[in-house]
Amino acid sequence: MVAHAPLRPRAVRLFRLLGRPGFHFFLTGLLMVLGFVLAHRLSERTGRDQLSALSTERLELYASNLAAELGRHASLPSLLAIAPTLQALMQAPGDETARRAASQMLARVNVRAGTHQIFVATPQGEVLAASETLSPPPRLAEAVAQGRVHFFAADPSTGSTDFYLLHPLRQGGQSNGVIVVRFNLAPLEATWVDLGLRSQGERILVADEQDVVIMSSVQAWKYAVLDHADPSRRKALEASARYPQAIGRDLELPVTLEVHQGQQVSLTLPGASRARPMLAQQRQILPLGLRLVALSDLTEVHQRAQYAAWGGAAFGASIGLLSLYLSSRRKALRQLTQAQSALRQAHGQLEQLVDSRTAELRQTNDALKTQIAQRLQTEGELLQASKLAVLGQMSAGLSHEVNQPLTALRALARNSIRLLETGRADAVAANLQIMDDMVERMSRITRQLKSFARKADDEVTGTVSLLDCVRNALLLLDHRSRVMDLHTDVDIPAGLQVHAEANRLEQVLVNLFGNAMDAMQHEPVRRLRVQAMPLDGGRRALVRVQDSGPGVSEADLPHLFEPFFTTKPAGEGLGLGLVISAKIVHEFGGTLRAQRLADGEHGMSFEFDLAAQSWEDADV
Ligand code: ADP
Repeated sequence: MVAHAPLRPRAVRLFRLLGRPGFHFFLTGLLMVLGFVLAHRLSERTGRDQLSALSTERLELYASNLAAELGRHASLPSLLAIAPTLQALMQAPGDETARRAASQMLARVNVRAGTHQIFVATPQGEVLAASETLSPPPRLAEAVAQGRVHFFAADPSTGSTDFYLLHPLRQGGQSNGVIVVRFNLAPLEATWVDLGLRSQGERILVADEQDVVIMSSVQAWKYAVLDHADPSRRKALEASARYPQAIGRDLELPVTLEVHQGQQVSLTLPGASRARPMLAQQRQILPLGLRLVALSDLTEVHQRAQYAAWGGAAFGASIGLLSLYLSSRRKALRQLTQAQSALRQAHGQLEQLVDSRTAELRQTNDALKTQIAQRLQTEGELLQASKLAVLGQMSAGLSHEVNQPLTALRALARNSIRLLETGRADAVAANLQIMDDMVERMSRITRQLKSFARKADDEVTGTVSLLDCVRNALLLLDHRSRVMDLHTDVDIPAGLQVHAEANRLEQVLVNLFGNAMDAMQHEPVRRLRVQAMPLDGGRRALVRVQDSGPGVSEADLPHLFEPFFTTKPAGEGLGLGLVISAKIVHEFGGTLRAQRLADGEHGMSFEFDLAAQSWEDADV
């Protein structure tokens, strides 16, 4: 656990690095370079190996070809040495006949053997007999003195290299002459040129022990000295005078070359402006002291390596870009997954929120329902209380209403007794009639009170006469209206039937009339006007109650229908009358509104609408 701890941040850093596009571009670049280098090296090595194998095979072929060609007549000089004609010549070197006979024999052998020239010379180099009249090679005497059996020399007349085989002629155990067989290597060289042309620009050269190119498929290289031969060797070369053309000409080819693997060299071919890479391989032909060098052009191998390198770079780039693509895809997928989980989380939170809000709403709803129920109960109680309040208010007037007729009734009864005692039956009858009227009036008042105090049913099922209700309400307040000398103006069609419950409608009217009377109490003109007008084509009726009081202030107007809003002194007003009245009108399907009178009039106007059924006798 502890051992892994430091790795963690490093792994995180590496992970972050892998996610960066910059890293992938760097990786792509790196892979391109790697691909380039590796493909180049691989292709070059393979191409070079193939070329080297091919070249080795050819080199073997050329070497065996050359060895066979030069070894073909190796025994010819020794065979000729025992020829009697030449023996005779050696015995008499100055004899012209012997010389001619020897020359003729040598000419025949030369033709038969296919050699270039055969001649016999003294150890000093003087030609005694020859198959052809060709000049002898330079420094022949030196070669004879050195005891050489063969050597190479350039033929200045043909420009090609000749191979000389030497064999001493002995007379009495002493060497007094030499037999020389001369081969011209030009035809063999010509086949090499031909082969070289057919083998993708392969060049062949043969260098002798002095590092002079004595044969080559490239004519310009002939008699050049390999790799700047050192001055002592150069001097020796000049002294030998075997290759006059070699003087001052160098070939930039190393003297020592890797025998098997081959070595890359850079050579400028004749006619070319630039040096080109070549694979040089060599093989020694030891008995002849020669080195055979094959030079294969590497340009094509390099070109192929170049193509392979670009291919490798493209491969590296595609791997890098693939990694970039995969990384960005992985990143996009990760972001998508993150977004999905965030969405899921948000969805979950939203659902939770909705659930909690729903629960809150349900609670609020329940609380509201409870409040409404409580309110309804309170309102019902208030309605009843308001009735009781009205009843209380009326009790004073009621006692006056009842006491007055009672007093009158007592007076009339006493008066009637006295009239009966005096026998005035007519007057008694008149008194009784008055008394009956009074009783009737009293019973009407009590009837109203009874109906008013009863708790009303909620449902409005029938219709009532609006005029009757107005009259009843006025009757209930009659004592007050008489005291204050109220002028009442009722303008309601007698047949107008409205959808309402008489008892509650009268309660509304009593409220409105009572308020109007309160307001006009101290006014000089006290006029109450009650009107009914058709609305909606007669389907509804607008009931309007106007007074000539001071009205309410603009500021108080919006508060009239608020519970417990009152301007009356304490003990006189509860501030419930209009609230209850508005509620009752609402139960009847109408709306109660208040407005101040304008246009010169002053006072208040309260109006409400009710469904109307019959406008008989009304001007619709
Ligand atoms: P209360 O009569 O017990 O005060 P109401 O709800 O019936 O309660 O009336 C509320 C208030 O409205 C009254 O105190 C009064 O100020 C005002 N008001 C009602 N009717 C009139 C009116 N006709 N003229 C002037 N003010 C009125």
